Amino acid sequence: MVEQRTPFIAGNWKMNLDHLQAIAFVQKLSWSLSDAKHDFSQVEVAVFPPFTDLRSVQTLISADKLELGFGSQDVSQHDSGAYTGEISGNFLARLDVQYAIVGHSERRQFHGETDAVVGAKAAAAVRHSIVPIICVGETAEDLAEHGPSAVPVAQLREVLSSLSADADIVVAYEPVWAIGSGKAATAEQAEQVCSALRETLVELLGEERATATRILYGGSVKSENIARFMREPNIDGALVGGASLAIEEFSRIIQFKK
Ligand code: PGA
Repeated sequence: MVEQRTPFIAGNWKMNLDHLQAIAFVQKLSWSLSDAKHDFSQVEVAVFPPFTDLRSVQTLISADKLELGFGSQDVSQHDSGAYTGEISGNFLARLDVQYAIVGHSERRQFHGETDAVVGAKAAAAVRHSIVPIICVGETAEDLAEHGPSAVPVAQLREVLSSLSADADIVVAYEPVWAIGSGKAATAEQAEQVCSALRETLVELLGEERATATRILYGGSVKSENIARFMREPNIDGALVGGASLAIEEFSRIIQFKK
């Protein structure tokens, strides 16, 4: 039987909103979604604040029993020790963090993260029962040189080599040229790569896990283009950057109609 994949809209705040702004934002977002009678069992929603906001967001979500999920934007590959500036998956798990983004292109670009590091981070998340959101995606140069799917598929293969086949994961396809550029991929372009990623999951994890695993698209997602992506068979949601910082816009994205 084909397992149903619950659509997932994830808001990557990047380095925006301090902990006080985060509290106000999460309150307003949950009011907006409850006014709209949003059904979280139909479309799952999570926000990804900076590390310093996580405790405040966790406290608010648990005190008000909000259905909103939350995660971190990164996680250390190590569990403890002499790693100045790193944040352990163990600490995140203690804050009820459900998801950790790993291998975002900004981490790859500005912090030199390789696929091996991203794999080790994904494995660290899994060790602490945190679901890694594994980001893959090609640059404009990669696209010109290797075509649309080669680089993201190779990245996914390498990262998955660090994980056991039964690990619970989410994959995010984020073409680097589409991130923050206002120039999203077309739905057809995104579907082409997401379907290649799904085939890779089938090959490496088996049909059942591949069918159950969500693949998100990310890169200049807005309320006006979300529905096009969500109509594609291999796109199960979106990792939203800039547009996740405006409450009404993010709320409209969450309430997309196919
Ligand atoms: P964007 O960012 O929506 O602002 O393009 C997406 C991301 O980097 O996750």
